[in-house]
Amino acid sequence: MNNPFRMELNFWGVRGSIPTPAPENLGYGGNTTCLELRLADGSIVVIDGGTGARKLGLSLLQRFPGQSLDVSFLMTHFHWDHIQGIPFFAPLYSPANHVTFHSSKPPEETADILEGQMTNPYFPVRFDLLAAKREFVQISDRPLEDNRLSVHAFPLNHPQGASGFRLESQGAVVVHACDHEHGDPTLDRVLRENAEGADILVYDAQFTPEEYESKRGWGHSTWLEAIHVARDAKVKQLVLAHHDPSHSDEFLRNVLAQAREKFDNVVIAQEGLAIPL
Ligand SMILES: [Zn+2]
Ligand SMILES: [Zn+2]
Repeated sequence: MNNPFRMELNFWGVRGSIPTPAPENLGYGGNTTCLELRLADGSIVVIDGGTGARKLGLSLLQRFPGQSLDVSFLMTHFHWDHIQGIPFFAPLYSPANHVTFHSSKPPEETADILEGQMTNPYFPVRFDLLAAKREFVQISDRPLEDNRLSVHAFPLNHPQGASGFRLESQGAVVVHACDHEHGDPTLDRVLRENAEGADILVYDAQFTPEEYESKRGWGHSTWLEAIHVARDAKVKQLVLAHHDPSHSDEFLRNVLAQAREKFDNVVIAQEGLAIPL
């Protein structure tokens, strides 16, 4: 199947830390981080398996009925808000499907971590007994290239580490940089180098600048810092993501209004948002 775009970024989970299924949050969405990148040739790449992955899995089964699925996950890191949807990702339960998990860790370590959240007594089905073929790949510092997509991982400033990704296909560039705290000069420079000229930058805007003052060292950044990165790296469109659980729709609309005064092409990540390139 060929799509009418080079890449399309789809948001299934936009919340940081923990799901927030409360009425005041449902405009932007309560599920934790999960993004789907659709490529021109129909390939599916997923960034993180937060609780948004449940709905993505159901959507894939609906969109490709009766077909074998080949899905690649790019894992930024393994905090709960990035993995809790994986046990509910329906394509993992069919032997026809092939799911590959890429991360900065050695393959056996990635497998161990994902098995860990599905052991007795946390979950009734063991990860190693899932029906789909599973594969684990370590992303190196060198770009992972095939003819559909180039993936370049880079380190972010986050407790226990996290990976950012620069994703390029047919000249379209998407950069994902959540979870990240600004302030480390080396990593801030690496981020800007990797974000250079991106069509889309998805950035960790968990806190306001005022909130950040009491959240130093928590591993997250602000909408204002997002704008600094976007300007420095000449990013075309900025997406503010990884929303704090305490930020209601009204709060985020207020953040957006402030951000738009400083950067024209900025949006707030929202469940259901699709950005074709
Ligand atoms: Zn997170
Ligand atoms: Zn994290």
